[in-house]
Amino acid sequence: MPTETFEFQVEARQLLQMMIHSIYSNKDVFLRELISNASDALDKLRIESLRDDSLNAEVDDLHIEIEPDREARTLTVRDNGIGMSRDEVVQLIGTIAKSGTAELLARLKEAKDETAAEGLIGQFGVGFYSSFMVADEVSLVTRKAGESQGTRWSSTGEGGYTVETVEDAPQGTAVTLRLKPEDAEDQLFDYTSPWKVREIVKRYSDFITWPIRMVTEAPKAEKASETEDAEDAEGGEKAPEPETLNSMKALWARSRSEVSDEEYHELYKHISHDWTDPLETIQLRAEGTFEYQSLLFLPAHAPHDLFSQANKRGVQLYVKRVFIMDDCEALVPEYLRFVKGVVDAQDLSLNVSREILQQDRQIQLMRRRLVKKVLSTIKEMMANREENYTTFWREFGRVVKEGLLNDPDNRDAILRICSFVSTHDKERLTTLARYVERMKEGQKHIYYMTGESRTAVENSPHLEAFQAKGLEVLILTDPVDEVWVGAVPEFEGKQLRSIAQGEAELDAEEEQGEEAKAEKERQRAEFAELLTWLGERLRDEVKEVRLTSRLTVSPACVVTDAGDVTPALQNLYRAMGQ
Ligand code: ADP
Ligand code: MG
Repeated sequence: MPTETFEFQVEARQLLQMMIHSIYSNKDVFLRELISNASDALDKLRIESLRDDSLNAEVDDLHIEIEPDREARTLTVRDNGIGMSRDEVVQLIGTIAKSGTAELLARLKEAKDETAAEGLIGQFGVGFYSSFMVADEVSLVTRKAGESQGTRWSSTGEGGYTVETVEDAPQGTAVTLRLKPEDAEDQLFDYTSPWKVREIVKRYSDFITWPIRMVTEAPKAEKASETEDAEDAEGGEKAPEPETLNSMKALWARSRSEVSDEEYHELYKHISHDWTDPLETIQLRAEGTFEYQSLLFLPAHAPHDLFSQANKRGVQLYVKRVFIMDDCEALVPEYLRFVKGVVDAQDLSLNVSREILQQDRQIQLMRRRLVKKVLSTIKEMMANREENYTTFWREFGRVVKEGLLNDPDNRDAILRICSFVSTHDKERLTTLARYVERMKEGQKHIYYMTGESRTAVENSPHLEAFQAKGLEVLILTDPVDEVWVGAVPEFEGKQLRSIAQGEAELDAEEEQGEEAKAEKERQRAEFAELLTWLGERLRDEVKEVRLTSRLTVSPACVVTDAGDVTPALQNLYRAMGQ
């Protein structure tokens, strides 16, 4: 096939422009991203070769190689992993498949200053394209394991890219960056310096489980005098042995005191493809008959696709330090799908499948323990690191509440880490426990109202009487709220009650005197005619028209029967296409 020229997809082009103009200040991370991709490619190849005996691939010396070339001012990152076919190159490198890209770009345009823009990019994470922060041209030569022809991709990041077939490409992928000339004089950005490369790999990629080797050119006589190269010149004229830069130590196998927060955070970034630090790091180990070690992370922000089907769970499974699979759904329930991390089990077979895992009793025990640990960590955050908890709840509360429906065993623990908007305090969220503490003398129920938005609920006539009587009402506006309230019977012996359903509970809250009863009878007689007339006029709209004492300002309101579908739930079903 001849050389073909392609245009970048619109979103890709916009994102590239930002990379070229470096809105992200920490340019070093491009190398972390390339190493992360290389490591993924090696993982994939190893798994694929286990699954497919006939795959004609080299798997003996899987590794990553970094080659800085000072004279040419290039940096190459090479792996002998799974590689990409020509179609995959166009698909994976020419477009951005990440959902939320359009939204991100819109928000970037609105961003007030550089810090804000940087924060957004950080949350989004930009992988391969981050190369354009430091390079004015990037080329990639790749050959998919098992295939004979390779592909060369090349671009300056402006407009488009070219793709051509190459005959003699080695298996795997080599990415070569032509470093920007404007950085040539700046030591900070001297990515051709072995010292600089070594430092970046140590800082960001030390735990990568594949060897990362640096190969440097055999120094020429006149170069030996240059300071940076002096240390590499020791070997004399022949090429020095490649130097392995990373320790490959599994962080989850080391005790917490030996590992710095930064190291944990870099592992998180590799697993999650996130550029920002996690909120919490959770360590868990079990010894004995079924031994495992685990490191889990709570991210600081929700991904853009938290609610789409594509959002996989981010817990990786290792067996005895060997990567087995990404997104091991057997290990975490769906309502904790935002949890990222690693679980390393000692006694599983290396070719265990997803199906087997779902059935495995030990895995189920492990999952139960992981869930309990995550929930107790959140509870502990709530007590000791309120700010972190608040961030967590803002980002993931909507998902956690799905657990109230799907995980009855942990329902109480989940209820205890939930927070709600309440009429008690406009600014601060409340917990159910605090609601119960504040309950009035004689109040039997925990009152709530669901709705589409806080304003909608606050302007609802249903709320009037409750506010007039000083009864606290929880305001529930997430779609999932409509569903779980029906599944949770009570909290600390107190039933949850919607204020928009059925007979007003208000009367029952107070003992009714003889006088009040007589007054009610009188009113009923007075308005009987009006009610019958209204009932007839509204026959197709409502079941019944009745008098109420719950309103103080509004003349009328619509209520649903207890057990009926609420208006907001009707909307939810409609939105889901039912
Ligand atoms: P991400 O890693 O988050 O998917 P990237 O922009 O880093 O996003 O990479 C895009 C895709 O390109 C990867 O998902 C992978 O399929 C492919 N890719 C990138 N680098 C390599 C590589 N070294 N070997 C094989 N595939 C790669
Ligand atoms: Mg990547």
